[in-house]
Amino acid sequence: MHEMALCESILQIIEEEASKKAFSKVTGIYLDIGQFSCVEPAALKFCFEVVSKTTLAELASININTIPGKGWCRNCLRDIPLSHRFSPCPVCNNRNVIIRQGEEMLIKQLEVA
Ligand SMILES: [Zn+2]
Repeated sequence: MHEMALCESILQIIEEEASKKAFSKVTGIYLDIGQFSCVEPAALKFCFEVVSKTTLAELASININTIPGKGWCRNCLRDIPLSHRFSPCPVCNNRNVIIRQGEEMLIKQLEVA
């Protein structure tokens, strides 16, 4: 499962941060998750609960900020909103679109104790 692997890498990053910055407990995790990243927030929260059992991030709250899709049309030479990864440009209907935003999966902030 996609979310399970993601949770394992989140936990790994947190553990590395914990040893660098000397904290022993994480109470909140703030994530930026792009619209096109195929991450299901409910599944992500569930998986994290499973993966974080008996770790420093057990009981941490997961806060997900969904980043909307955005592209750049090579024909119009401007930013355009994208509802799907492979949507054409809504202005000129051209498919020559570069994804600029919506694929992120990052830890924005950690609340530690
Ligand atoms: Zn266009």
